[in-house]
Amino acid sequence: QKCLSLIKKTKFLNAYITVSEEVALKQAEESEKRYKNGQPLGDLDGIPIAVKDNFSTSGIETTCASNMLKGYVPPYNATVVQKLLDQGALLMGKTNLDEFAMGSGSTDGVFGPVKNPWSYSKQYREKRKQNPHSKSGDSDWLITGGSSGGSAAAVSAFTCYAALGSDTGGSTRNPAAHCGLVGFKPSYGLVSRHGLIPLVNSMDVPGILTRCVDDAAMVLGVLAGHDPKDSTTVHDPINKPLVLSSLADVSKLCIGIPKEYLVPELSSEIQSLWSRAADLFESEGAKVIEVSLPHTSYSIVCYHVLCTSEVASNMARFDGLQYGHRCDIDVSTEAMYAATRREGFNDVVRGRILSGNFFLLKENYENYFVKAQKVRRLIADDFVNAFNSGVDVLLTPTTLSEAVPYLEFIKEDNRTRSAQDDIFTQPVNMAGLPAVSIPVALSNQGLPIGLQFIGRAFYDQQLLTVAKWFE
Ligand code: GLN
Repeated sequence: QKCLSLIKKTKFLNAYITVSEEVALKQAEESEKRYKNGQPLGDLDGIPIAVKDNFSTSGIETTCASNMLKGYVPPYNATVVQKLLDQGALLMGKTNLDEFAMGSGSTDGVFGPVKNPWSYSKQYREKRKQNPHSKSGDSDWLITGGSSGGSAAAVSAFTCYAALGSDTGGSTRNPAAHCGLVGFKPSYGLVSRHGLIPLVNSMDVPGILTRCVDDAAMVLGVLAGHDPKDSTTVHDPINKPLVLSSLADVSKLCIGIPKEYLVPELSSEIQSLWSRAADLFESEGAKVIEVSLPHTSYSIVCYHVLCTSEVASNMARFDGLQYGHRCDIDVSTEAMYAATRREGFNDVVRGRILSGNFFLLKENYENYFVKAQKVRRLIADDFVNAFNSGVDVLLTPTTLSEAVPYLEFIKEDNRTRSAQDDIFTQPVNMAGLPAVSIPVALSNQGLPIGLQFIGRAFYDQQLLTVAKWFE
């Protein structure tokens, strides 16, 4: 009830697209009954959890924040949603995002942008008042980052205890960093993607947003595991429930600092927190070494080619026949497809479909798509080499800066900057590794800053244990 009333109070954040109040209350009643009757409880019994609106939910509208899927009600639950429900979680609602999870601001969905709850903190407002350049009025608020910004705002505003995001190039870690949360991207293949409406199948992973690392581990324990409906999932070695032990001996750890992540665009505040974090590990006896991930700078362009190519193929299913929106032109089937897709998708989605189809043209395929796949392998190998040289986890920034004001973010020239902002998160998806962003401090402006730990593939538990020690 408390969470539901907070959802109402914070409606102006635009965190939720659909609030599933009735479902949540009914589940809470059943949870309470189980508790009172002394029946066995699930790992998440009675815990309010929200789900990004690109996961299919049986009987609950699933829109991907797109005109294309407005009104679409899936007949089944994504595997991860079903697993949450099976363990007693209360489904609070579906959260806002960039259309089809394409973006890093949560500003590009058809239901409007998500506002960062930190925009309204006392400390930030005071600082803002002192700044002569700050705009006053209704549009003076910060973005959450994205694309899982609705999930981040929902947890950050205490309307739930955990939320599912998705992470293709950073969409869980980026908003977690901007909203002062833990944002965890599991290893590719550890958690089922069945029912997650795809952006880039070879990189998408369900992500977890929580307030602390222990909570993320608990949710991971529920979600992880082989799913016959997702052939890329592995039989995982994770004990259930996943309760993290305390790190026995920090001095046995080797922390790698990738030198290519020290880019000129990185804010000096984040840079100094990053080096203080490394010092902290060192002072506790850990070995901290500089490592090189030499292909890092190719990541953004390489991602662009691979992402748009997969998008071009994925989006073909939205033809006006099977799901959601259909325009009423009936001159020809082709004309109906074209008009449906023009009305259904925003500019970002249409732009990516066009780019992807360009890269996949017969005459371009070798030069772009195949080359990008080779570069992807080099990026992944960089990580393998670092880990083979003895590094246990890598420590990096999550974002270039703290959350920026909406009006600044939507300026045309900032759009390129926003792609650049994924520089620390995207390579991880190319390599399928686990990574977690954890909040480390408040900036001078009073805004949260996150740092990222990256682990070896399927060493998710070790990664979270290190993050917990640091937290
Ligand atoms: N910002 C990246 C993109 O727009 C990543 C998005 C994501 O992780 N879903 O593709």
